[in-house]
Amino acid sequence: MRSLVFILTFLNILAWNLQAYDKPLRALLVTGGCCHDYAKQKDILKQGLERRLNITIDHAHSDDKSTNPPLPIFGKANYAKGYDVIIHDECAADMKNPEIIAGVLSPHTNGVPGVNLHCAMHSYRFGDFRKPVKSGADNAKWFEYIGLQSSGHGPQQPIEIKFENNVPFITKGIQNWTTQREELYNNIKILPSAKIVARGVQGNRKAVVAWTNNYKGTRVFSTSIGHNNVTVADSRYLKLVARGLLWAVKREDMKIINPKNETFDLNSKPKASSAK
Ligand SMILES: [Zn+2]
Repeated sequence: MRSLVFILTFLNILAWNLQAYDKPLRALLVTGGCCHDYAKQKDILKQGLERRLNITIDHAHSDDKSTNPPLPIFGKANYAKGYDVIIHDECAADMKNPEIIAGVLSPHTNGVPGVNLHCAMHSYRFGDFRKPVKSGADNAKWFEYIGLQSSGHGPQQPIEIKFENNVPFITKGIQNWTTQREELYNNIKILPSAKIVARGVQGNRKAVVAWTNNYKGTRVFSTSIGHNNVTVADSRYLKLVARGLLWAVKREDMKIINPKNETFDLNSKPKASSAK
């Protein structure tokens, strides 16, 4: 009898585990702000990642194109509730309110993994952010989460991306490639908690363009690549982001699909003219 109870309990736990592992990951994708076609990129990222992974992506999007967009996550420190990972793809360079920034960081400080794309690196900056920030300073907090401090970029030109093997899961099966016109974000400071995943070369400029960070024990993956829609929709880019995301949530066991003949709508339609 005792062994039967044991076997039933074991089967129960097994079934529960399988169920948990079949459940899609849940991600919140934060988009909006200056300088990028987030109206399209939010859809490209959702489609591209949902085609590759067992994941459901919800949008936290603002149509505002300013450097201080009213993102729906602001002022809601529990915005990550129910999500396995937050994908930051916002461009909020002039959001300088330390209280709001602390709210954006709150889930990550409390252990929710993060994935950061392109202009997320240039968001939430204040003070003398063009010089290396002092460890522990108020204006260092976002960079300490990201694992790298960047202050700007040069012209839009192709970037040669070269991978390194410091985080083998992310780079498994990934080949070096050269982007179309892209922005190479500079590196003011690379924190000791970061590991380099890829470097980029653009003419005579060089910078780390993909990396991981150990943020107080929480996994964070970032790539500064991803200005133009054509890059975001590139299967090589989506594969990198998908692998980085699985690494961040410690789901290296999850199958990654390589979609065949994938298409995206890359061009934003002109806005319908107002009746007025
Ligand atoms: Zn950009």
